[in-house]
This record gives sequence, structure tokens and C-alpha cells, in this order.
Amino acid sequence: MAITPLMPVYPRSPVRPVRGEGVYLYGEEGERYLDFAAGIAVNLLGHGHPHLTKAIQDQAATLMHVSNLYGSPQGEAFAQRLCDLTFADTVFFTNSGAEAVECAIKTARRYHFAKGNAHKHNLITFSNAFHGRTMATISATDQAKLRDGFAPLLTGFTVVDFNDLDAALAAIDENTAGFLLEPIQGEGGIRPATHEFLAGLRAACDEHDLMLVFDEVQCGVARTGALYAYEHYGVVPDIMASAKGIGGGFPMGACLASEKAAAGMVIGTHGSTYGGNPLAMAAGQAVFDVVANDEFLAEVRQKGERLRAALEQMIPNHDHLFESVRGVGLMLGVRMKTDSRAFVTYLRTKGLLAVSAGDNVMRVLPPLTIEEEHIREFVDMLSAAAAEYEVPAAAA
Ligand SMILES: *Cc1c(COP(=O)(O)O)cnc(C)c1O
Repeated sequence: MAITPLMPVYPRSPVRPVRGEGVYLYGEEGERYLDFAAGIAVNLLGHGHPHLTKAIQDQAATLMHVSNLYGSPQGEAFAQRLCDLTFADTVFFTNSGAEAVECAIKTARRYHFAKGNAHKHNLITFSNAFHGRTMATISATDQAKLRDGFAPLLTGFTVVDFNDLDAALAAIDENTAGFLLEPIQGEGGIRPATHEFLAGLRAACDEHDLMLVFDEVQCGVARTGALYAYEHYGVVPDIMASAKGIGGGFPMGACLASEKAAAGMVIGTHGSTYGGNPLAMAAGQAVFDVVANDEFLAEVRQKGERLRAALEQMIPNHDHLFESVRGVGLMLGVRMKTDSRAFVTYLRTKGLLAVSAGDNVMRVLPPLTIEEEHIREFVDMLSAAAAEYEVPAAAA
């Protein structure tokens, strides 16, 4: 038997963390890593944050899980908080991002079904999107590496170019249910939508009674310096998926919707065994206690500016490797002139964690709790590593 006990679907790196403290991770031999990957935009509060840790410990000892068959004071309270802070009127809690997107897709289809328009089941989605790894969410992207070998995929998705408003509008037909997109693409390479694009999609949804569905699994929950990225654009969705940072490392997600959009989601139409259990709600509340206030969000924007400026300042010293910086808040990407995957792998050997993405981008996604000293340490280490880096022949 050559297969590993862990199904070998990830190219697992030699970084083997066993402990975390703030912005640092420690491996089995005690080696230290500066973590500017944060579990891929998950650990908003870093590792071992006292408020989040205590909330989970206390709740675990009080009541961990019951069932959605019972009333949920914990779920009601966190759903109310999300509704108060966003466009939403109602929330379905999930265990992951893909499930939040699944719920969003189902909600959009049910909206039209409930109006007697079951033929309006088709979502227009966008090139290089990432919505998760379930059958529906891989059907909603054109990325071959996510889709190959899993046919037959689900029908009901039409992919057009991201940020191409004319193409999106031209794709609308009698079967269209709405649009599904990331306001800022993450895995696709930290690509923000233009304001014109999102505003144009919103206008089309209003005109044709379509659902605007945002996947804010990566860009949501304070990552960009707004609680949700749609606020930067002033473009409000009908349905939105949230996950990753929402539990600060505890696995959870949420599908948020306006009352109008959720019209079809009546008793019996959807469910989840674990979704929204008391332990998850305690984690979500603890994260929001820290991030959901103007002062914290302003700090994220300031740190984002500082980190961005420091990266931009460094680029001319290594312009054979780096091209430009893009992104919003602490969701940043450095576009590279060489293979970003190989470079990120190399950085790990230098004690530095970042994440590669599409379009040869190195994602920089630190905990939102970083301090000035961590920004300096990151950029110093990155610059030193870049100076020593030998571009692999195959990737040059
Ligand atoms: C990570 C991600 C998902 C999938 O989340 P999982 O928790 O891995 O299922 C969906 N959409 C976006 C934009 C993501 O970044």
C-alpha cells in the first residue's frame, strides 16, 4: 500500500505546525514561522487569542451541540447580530464556505421557484472563480483543475469573464436566476471587482428581478477593513455566503439573505446537523466581539495601507521577482514575474508563511491583529529571502 492514510489530495509542505501563539506558528521541532497565511484568511485573531479560546472553552463545557430540532437561543442571538450589522434579514448557519455557497445557490433558485418561475434556475458566474469543492460549487467555475474528472457536473451555470459587464448582461436570458461572484476574487489571484461591474450587475438584477449573490467567504468578516467587502462598493447583494474568518478557526459558515430573497426557504427546504450549534455560535460571537466595531475596522485599513506601502517600497529592489501589489485592507496579493507557488514553497524554508493563488500571485493574508512590528518583520524577511532566491530554471 503506497497511499497515505490522509487522502493525498494536498501537496503537503514540510511545515508541520503543532502550536500557535499570536502571529507565530511552531513546528514539531520548535521551529518558528511568521504566519501571514492565517489558515488561508481564517485565523483573523491569530492563534490562541484569549477571548476566542475562552469563549470556546466555556461553551464546550456548558453545551456543545444539540440539534436544529430545538429552539436555539445561541443561533438566534448570532443571527440577529449578523442581521443588525449587514443587509440581511435572515441567516442559515453552515460548517464551511462551500456549504454556505450551496445554501446561497439553493436560496436563489427557490426564490424564482416560489414565484412560479422554476425555469429561472441558471446562475451567471465568472472566470477564475473559486466557490468551494462540492459538486455545485465546482460546477460554478471554469477552472479546469477544480472540475477535471468529476463529470457530469451540475447544469445551471454559465461562466463569463470576470469584470466584463457587457458579457454578463449579454448572458441574461429567460432562464437566468441571477449572478454569483466574489466581490474580490481570492484563489483566482486577489482580483477586486470594479465598482462599475458590481453596480451594473445590481442594476440588472433590479431591472430583471434577478438575485445578486456574493461569495464573501474569503473577503468578508473584516478582512478588507469593512465588515463585508460589499460595503466598500456601496452595492448590496440579495444573498451572501460568509465563512473562513467568521469562526476565527472554528469551522463554520453562514448564508445571509434579505427577506425577499429567502422567500422560498420555508420549513423543510434545507438543513444541517451541525450548522449553527452552540459551540460554533460562541466562536462566531467571540470573533465579532473583537472585529465588528469601527475602531478595529479602521485599524485593519491602516495596517493594510502600511503593509501595502512596505511591499511596494520593496518591489524595486527585487523587480526580477515582483511586479505589483493589489487587493484591499489585509487581503493583499503580490503579482510575481516568476512562479508564485515555487516562491511560497521556498519562503516556508525561511520561516515565512504566505499563500499562492492564481495568476502568479502570492497572497498575503495575515491575522487582522498584527502589529507594526510584524509588518516590518514580514517585509524584512521577505526582502532577505527574495535576495537569496534562485528562480528555478523551469519557472524562469
Ligand atoms: C475558501 C472559499 C470557499 C470554500 O470554503 P470551504 O470552507 O473550503 O468550503 C468558497 N468561496 C471562496 C471565495 C473561498 O475563498
